[in-house]
Amino acid sequence: MMKFELPKLEYAYDALEPYIDAKTMEIHHTKHHQAYLDKFNAVLEKNPQLKYDSAEELLMNLNNLEVSEDDKKVLRNHGGGFVNHDFFWKLMGPEKDADSGLITDIGEAFGSVEEFKTKFSAAAVGQFGSGWAWLVRDENKNLKLYSLPNQDSPLSLGHQPVLGLDVWEHAYYLKYQNKRAEYIENWWNVLKLM
Ligand code: MN
Repeated sequence: MMKFELPKLEYAYDALEPYIDAKTMEIHHTKHHQAYLDKFNAVLEKNPQLKYDSAEELLMNLNNLEVSEDDKKVLRNHGGGFVNHDFFWKLMGPEKDADSGLITDIGEAFGSVEEFKTKFSAAAVGQFGSGWAWLVRDENKNLKLYSLPNQDSPLSLGHQPVLGLDVWEHAYYLKYQNKRAEYIENWWNVLKLM
């Protein structure tokens, strides 16, 4: 059985200041991400019959896994939490590293980068309760934008995540309190790709 480990961040906890504060980053990584990981590893340990080469693979095959319904729920929530956060940290950084191919594709799919940002932000603001806003490539490689509740992964829908924004309160509450829209607006500053 393969166990997973908490990934190291490629930047310091205070590297995303002032947009995301150091305390939020530290708690988010060492407490929240760690908690998802621990429960994910525990359910994998309980199910040695599972065969997989990556955590992502488990989420892609979520509906066909030979596990109890309760364990499937743990895999969905905590496996999702583990994979989503790993992805999230890598999207951000103190320096921009623009992906020109992606920017071109976004312009074609959404009219302009500004229109895309407006729509993505609206999806993130509009997600009722905890969840994420996602930009994905669907099964035909077309860009699609939506929000999903909790830690549900686009991988379980057969989609490949391109961008993801965590809008759980733990991601912003210390600094922004109830002002989710302000957190989202500031997040574009620490998104490396565009
Ligand atoms: Mn989170």
